[in-house]
Amino acid sequence: MVLERSDVSSVNDLLIASCLPEFFALVPSEEAAIDLILQTQIEQRKLVCRCGHVFEKATRAAYERRVKCAECRRHSHFTVGTLYERVTQVRARLGAVWLMDHGAVVTSTKLNQIFGIATSTGLCIINTIGLFIESFRQTSFDEASEGLICPIFGEIMIKRSRITGAYEHAASVPEEVTVADVEPGSSNQFSQPFTETESNDISDDLGDLDRAVLAQISAAPISVDTICESLDSTAGPVGAALTMLELLGHIVSGPGNSFVRSNAAKVKGSSSSTDFSPQALAFAEAAIDNIKAIRQGVSRKYLQLYLGAFWCCFDRDIWREGMLMLVSVDATLTPDRNLFDYESPLIVSVAI
Ligand SMILES: [Zn+2]
Repeated sequence: MVLERSDVSSVNDLLIASCLPEFFALVPSEEAAIDLILQTQIEQRKLVCRCGHVFEKATRAAYERRVKCAECRRHSHFTVGTLYERVTQVRARLGAVWLMDHGAVVTSTKLNQIFGIATSTGLCIINTIGLFIESFRQTSFDEASEGLICPIFGEIMIKRSRITGAYEHAASVPEEVTVADVEPGSSNQFSQPFTETESNDISDDLGDLDRAVLAQISAAPISVDTICESLDSTAGPVGAALTMLELLGHIVSGPGNSFVRSNAAKVKGSSSSTDFSPQALAFAEAAIDNIKAIRQGVSRKYLQLYLGAFWCCFDRDIWREGMLMLVSVDATLTPDRNLFDYESPLIVSVAI
């Protein structure tokens, strides 16, 4: 059953309204928020002193975010490396995590209404949560792919980060993709960009680096290292370009981190990696509906982070209640802030 756009939005609002009383009761203040973080880390045995001591209990002084080790007497700063490091709005962050943990889609406007924080702060919170989700995916790649109902989705989402990073410099301020951009056409529209493997046409949406990288790739397999050398570029931006070219169906990857043009691959009888499974398409469709209904558009710059956050809402098997909370207090994850600099090509923004 397909929900109408207004239904998607009101169902989400109802879900948020139903989750909030419990959150407010559990976390009535900033201090309670910090206590909950400490308590969760201890319960999960995630709070470990530099001396190796695993905290089994700890008390903190009011307004402090550090606890003393029973073994070596040194202090551990327990929010360092977590989603809550060096921020003043801990409760709002925790609230956003709480709501997403219950399957809600959270927007900066919503956070503004609920917690009275600036929408720019709300946006920062949502994007940083996205970074943690992304980081969790990277460290749990195999597990996540296995558990996902659509492994190819895991592939799409994770590969870009695994190949590495992002364009080093954002070329420009990203355009907003508005409802008007995603509005026309049927639900089939997004399947088209990915199935153009027969065509030699190079999309006008490719950036300069994408084109330069594509120009290096022919029927003969070429390695990432060789491409980097030829272009005198580093692995980060080249990797990002390769992933985009692969997603768009221009190239396919081969053994040993090599790439060939997709038409060449077809001649050899290899299967194209651009045929998306029904589950992946269902995800894309749901994400589009969600963007239209709740966000009224997503910046190209934050698309990947948005899709990660939507993954939380979409796949409740992996993202069971409380999972995001655990991810958010896990100081062993190392979110890659370079992702903020990566801008998805327009075609992907509109397509997915
Ligand atoms: Zn210690």
